Amino acid sequence: MNIKKQFIDGAWVASESGAVREIINPFNQEVIAKVAESDESDTKAAIAAARKAFDDGDWASTPAIERGGLVRRIAELIERDREELAELESIDTGKTVEESRWDMDDIAGVFRYFADMADKDGGEIIESPIPNSTSRVVHEPVGVCGQITPWNYPLLQASWKLAPALAAGNTLVMKPSEITPLTSIKVFELMEEAGVPAGVVNLVLGPGNSVGAELSENNDVDLISFTGGIETGKRIMQAASSNVKNLALELGGKNPNIVFADAAFETAVDQAMNAVFFHAGQICSAGTRLIVEDSIHDNFVEALVERVKKIKLGNGFDASTQMGPLISEDHLNKVIQYVENGKKEGATVAVGGDRPEEPELQNGFFYLPTVLTDCTTDMSVVQDEGFGPVITVEKFSTEEEAVRLANDSIYGLSGGVFTNDIAKAERCVAKMRMGTVWINDVNLYFPQAPWGGYKQSGIGRELGKTGLEEYQETKHIFQNLKPESVNWF
Ligand code: NAD
Repeated sequence: MNIKKQFIDGAWVASESGAVREIINPFNQEVIAKVAESDESDTKAAIAAARKAFDDGDWASTPAIERGGLVRRIAELIERDREELAELESIDTGKTVEESRWDMDDIAGVFRYFADMADKDGGEIIESPIPNSTSRVVHEPVGVCGQITPWNYPLLQASWKLAPALAAGNTLVMKPSEITPLTSIKVFELMEEAGVPAGVVNLVLGPGNSVGAELSENNDVDLISFTGGIETGKRIMQAASSNVKNLALELGGKNPNIVFADAAFETAVDQAMNAVFFHAGQICSAGTRLIVEDSIHDNFVEALVERVKKIKLGNGFDASTQMGPLISEDHLNKVIQYVENGKKEGATVAVGGDRPEEPELQNGFFYLPTVLTDCTTDMSVVQDEGFGPVITVEKFSTEEEAVRLANDSIYGLSGGVFTNDIAKAERCVAKMRMGTVWINDVNLYFPQAPWGGYKQSGIGRELGKTGLEEYQETKHIFQNLKPESVNWF
């Protein structure tokens, strides 16, 4: 089996230590790839290459229209290799190939969006209050960007960082999750094919506590953009204080989904499932906290449970599979413990709550889709992210109570409201402290709209106009057209 390498200064290189990591298929634990395991010295070399390319190279001053053209070329190559990328993503994460195909289309869309934006920002002329002067604002790249991504949507999360960073003229070092590096490696091959200059994009492969920590601390990195868990995010914030780096954090979520009695019942049941069971619930915006009006609670839970029982688990490469395995044994054990804690605290398992029994699923990290009822906001299953196919159900009787329950969280990534009363929906949305709120929908995002969290769900916004702005510095340029001595001193 070939060992996949790091990409540093335009070349594919083995790690200095020679260390190698095996990448596992979570469906059957087979080794699907071997990749070079970077460490601090590899990371320093990658940062030095990105620094040199930014300080001495032409990329930052390349006309924005040309940078945009190159980002568009990357989108075209992703579209060309869509099927190969989708299959790589599925074998690495366990998700169904159909979900991975949607991801690849979204990813190409993200590159196209930022390609189009690259040359649309001509800065701003300010009306100067000083006679005989001009005043203007220009946007410039931040410099060397460190980019750290999680395992749940490996290439999608990478695309939200790579495309705007390149469009804005930065250089970068990316570290994908050590568990799921395969599609990121492939996209670096495509960026090389597209003609991205040497040193502009660099890829290191390895664990967070060495490679990620070096990226976060290193004084030659100007910006760190991180997607992952809250605890890692806090460590990165501390490390980034070494040289007061720009910081963009997309952290976790524990997302409420409020269902009022007047909502379209079948649609709300269907969407409550879509909110949480895609990719086995390993979605930052998964609607894991179902908050249902008491008058329909019992019927709603009954209908939900009936449908959840029918979810088909299996190999993501089998067209009939609706839900794949969890990412790793470690993560499976966390989800098992999370549900056990919920049971001890008084939650009732309405369906699931265990591993499946089918012999063909025993080698994979499977957990049954699970509905927990009798939940209250003081329980850890309602407060902690969990990140598995588990939904908790709470009851409410008034609009105010629904909003209070929804906001009772350290997270503020996303939320949903299902009702046919639009005024009521708008009243709730105005009070919900989350970066994205859906009315009569769940989990929808697109490149044109900003994405990010309130509270401990993060700092900054990816996607949309703000997604480009994260990778830009703002410079004010004042010019005196009639310089004269002031004669104060
Ligand atoms: P994680 O925090 O364990 O790891 C994320 C990345 O950080 C990995 O590449 C890891 O190697 C690296 N890392 C770990 N320790 C580090 C350190 N000390 N310094 C620097 N880097 C370090 O998260 P995960 O388990 O890979 O992903 C799941 C989490 O990601 C969930 O909490 C989920 O909600 C979150 N997430 C958020 C969004 C969003 O848009 N807000 C999107 C996807 C995932």
